[in-house]
Amino acid sequence: MLKTIVIASKNNGKIEEIKDMLSDLPIEILSLNHYPNAPDVEENGRTFLENALIKAHAIADFTGMPVLADDSGLEVDHLAGEPGIFSARYAGTGATDGENNHKLLMALKNVPATQRGASFHCALVLYWPHGEYQVFEGRWRGRIGDEFRGGYGFGYDPLFYLPEIGKTVAEITPAEKNKRSHRSQAVSELKKYLQSNYFPEKRLRPGRSAAW
Ligand code: IMP
Repeated sequence: MLKTIVIASKNNGKIEEIKDMLSDLPIEILSLNHYPNAPDVEENGRTFLENALIKAHAIADFTGMPVLADDSGLEVDHLAGEPGIFSARYAGTGATDGENNHKLLMALKNVPATQRGASFHCALVLYWPHGEYQVFEGRWRGRIGDEFRGGYGFGYDPLFYLPEIGKTVAEITPAEKNKRSHRSQAVSELKKYLQSNYFPEKRLRPGRSAAW
């Protein structure tokens, strides 16, 4: 019987986002805020999935609980997938979002809109204390703009332009972002998995949005 999942994160924004998406399932969601002595795990993998697995495995060993861990970032076509797993520290260790965004703008200087395609990518792992795990992934396609636009969000949101709605992610509300984002796509897949394997009575009601 699945009752509790520990999110391997102390990032309250991320924790609340995942909790909110899973709120209609009868699961208690804890996080690393409940485990102050949990180890600081070095994410030294080569892919988002490897990093999520490293984190999830270490925290499952420490807590003895089922663990949810994710790793995410931005992959830019013209830069052969950079900054990728280095998204948070693209402009150097401890770099601010502004510094990372500025570096990205410089790297794409004079690159035409048609060659500025990019994806946000999220790898999410549900890891069990006995070592079994499931993987859920989400990708969000867009284009790197040539100026900062919008005040919502974080990270590369002010540069990640969504051609289908003519706005950057920083110009849409968090609620709108959560319906489309790479992370919400991955959590949506996780939710489907949990529903069909653990809570079959909680299937979606007809007419609810396709995202859920
Ligand atoms: P993490 O997976 O939360 O550690 O995110 C790694 C880095 O990827 C962040 O520091 C951001 O630079 C970038 N990133 C991941 N998701 C997003 C997003 O939804 N918007 C903007 N940047 C993101």
